[in-house]
Amino acid sequence: MNIKNNLTNLRQTLPKGCTLIAVSKTQPATAIEEAYAAGQRHFGENKAQELASKYEILPRDIQWHMIGHLQTNKVKYIAPFVFRIHSVDSIKLLEEINKQGIRCNRTIDCLLQVHISREDTKFGFSESELSEVIDSGKIGSLQSVAIKGLMGMATFTDDIEQVRSEFKSLKTIFDRLKQSELPENITMDELSTGMSGDYKIALEEGSTMIRLGTAIFGQRNYNPS
Ligand SMILES: *Cc1c(COP(=O)(O)O)cnc(C)c1O
Repeated sequence: MNIKNNLTNLRQTLPKGCTLIAVSKTQPATAIEEAYAAGQRHFGENKAQELASKYEILPRDIQWHMIGHLQTNKVKYIAPFVFRIHSVDSIKLLEEINKQGIRCNRTIDCLLQVHISREDTKFGFSESELSEVIDSGKIGSLQSVAIKGLMGMATFTDDIEQVRSEFKSLKTIFDRLKQSELPENITMDELSTGMSGDYKIALEEGSTMIRLGTAIFGQRNYNPS
């Protein structure tokens, strides 16, 4: 796998204003350094402790995105520096992020994760839960978090039309929220959709941030022994 070539090729296909996040979970620091040397600054991880230990040893101008399910007791590991948390799936988690933001004297940028896939295993608010949590006014009182948009994962399937319709439905929710009256700390700027297998469809359906692992680093090796 040539990380630099992969990044160069991907950047050429990326629409203006769209951010490429290199998903470096399970990848060693050397692979991240290679991407960094090729100019990559946005990286995504799905485990809080792995993210924090990579932050410690890698260049300080990396912008770290937390993209995986986050337990409330792990927020403290990443709160001092995380660039954005994509995977906010409960008000309880958001309250903890706010608490840790206050402790670190910073506002933590977040995306609300919406469940759009057919799979039960993927986390996120349903459309009605999302409206409920926004209408409840609870987010507006959390002064150390800023909601920047939505994140979603499509069903893992070869059925392109299924994937497209899931991305379309999230874009519809996003646009509707964007046009509605929202608390000061909620804006709809970013739509984080698209992984290595479906990012082309995601881009056609309005993604502003794609999260790519395999397409940059190659297959992940979960069991290096
Ligand atoms: C692993 C992961 C990705 C990247 O997956 P690839 O298929 O390797 O591109 C994107 N988003 C989330 C939430 C992930 O956990």
